[in-house]
Amino acid sequence: MHHFHYTGPDLTCESVDLAAVARLYGTPTYVYSATTVADNYRRLRAGLAGLDVQLCYAAKANSNLSLLRLCAMLGTGFDLVSGGEIRRVLAAGGHVRESVFAGVGKTEDEIRLALENGIFAFHVESEPELARINHVAGTLGVKAPIAIRVNPDVDAQTHAKITTGKSGNKFGLPLKQAAAAYEAAAKLKNIAVRGVQMHIGSQLTTVGPFAEAIKKVAPLVAQLKTDFGIEYFSIGGGLGIVYGDALASGSAAWWESLPPEQRPLTPELYGETLTPLLAPLGLKILLEHGRYLVGNAGVLLSRVEHLKRSGGKNFLVVDAGMNDLVRPAMYDGYHEVVPVHRDSSRRALKADIVGPICESSDCFAKDRPIQEIGEGELVAFMSAGAYGYAMASRYNSRPMPAEVLVQGSTFELVNARETFAQMIAGEKIPAFLR
Ligand SMILES: *Cc1c(COP(=O)(O)O)cnc(C)c1O
Repeated sequence: MHHFHYTGPDLTCESVDLAAVARLYGTPTYVYSATTVADNYRRLRAGLAGLDVQLCYAAKANSNLSLLRLCAMLGTGFDLVSGGEIRRVLAAGGHVRESVFAGVGKTEDEIRLALENGIFAFHVESEPELARINHVAGTLGVKAPIAIRVNPDVDAQTHAKITTGKSGNKFGLPLKQAAAAYEAAAKLKNIAVRGVQMHIGSQLTTVGPFAEAIKKVAPLVAQLKTDFGIEYFSIGGGLGIVYGDALASGSAAWWESLPPEQRPLTPELYGETLTPLLAPLGLKILLEHGRYLVGNAGVLLSRVEHLKRSGGKNFLVVDAGMNDLVRPAMYDGYHEVVPVHRDSSRRALKADIVGPICESSDCFAKDRPIQEIGEGELVAFMSAGAYGYAMASRYNSRPMPAEVLVQGSTFELVNARETFAQMIAGEKIPAFLR
């Protein structure tokens, strides 16, 4: 459920007309609904009400400072993967003490920054990394809290580029090696063993793989609680969102219209299925959802440049490109594309929806049904709140897009469109070419 819907013919975010946002701030622009993020958060908490839960929002999904602040106000910590993300949380007024630091290649500087700010735990991916953390903690005269990431070897049944919990990918240690790795970690002078971590993949739409992974890892977790007094079990993120019927999925009626076995995974089913598996462990449960919290809370607003007819096909050329939203090019990601002004008197057509970038992969959709629409009119890419702006680039020397946050009937620019001067600020012509 989310707060993007038509009010009469006009697409609105909460009570804000998206056409008004485009008039003020131009396009392409990401627009986020604060109330949707808050609702997503509350539903997930409620689904897991029987457990001692600490939600660490995976900042990599969308690290705009305003969303980090919103999450911190709702009560989340953060799942962080770089020194830049640690600094963002600090800048947004979030709590590093309730946050974890993940990733396979943490540098010494990043480890130091995390320790200086009292990180809740490092999620460790390898033995050499553990040695590095031990070393940096020693130079600071502190003990570094850690959890080792274990790889439960389950198939998350999601896109190959976003599955992480199968053996043979770069993440975590095989379950069989984990006990020995904990033995070794506990012997290190500057390490404090604090928890266990896993994360099996992203955009999971069934609960089965989550349950399977927990069942596989739970005996190890119980053993580590006995042996080392660990405090928590992080079951990672990965809860999927609706991309296909994104707009319709904003309403409760859409969910109720589907037979239960055809419904995409809800936070209620997630909570109901996992709580009985986790409760007997008697530990704090960490969650690291990113996409689930912000994915359906954002759209990318874009303006139509041309409707081009060529080779018997229609091409809708829009002013957003793969540099602004890379999921379709990178992961075959699907985004529903809807007109900001709906007009049922127009005929329907099928078009490839493409951006202006000089790459064939700059294509958002093939043969997509959409109402006839022309130059200057607006479209919205639905479910673009996660891995949208966060993965945007300046390819083709296009400025980074703007971002706007809506709450109720108010909205504010929370990231101005990049200027040309900002784009080239770090560049210079060297003396030997002058
Ligand atoms: C990316 C990632 C997440 C968040 O994934 P979502 O699918 O956005 O929920 C959580 N934990 C780890 C370790 C990750 O790499």
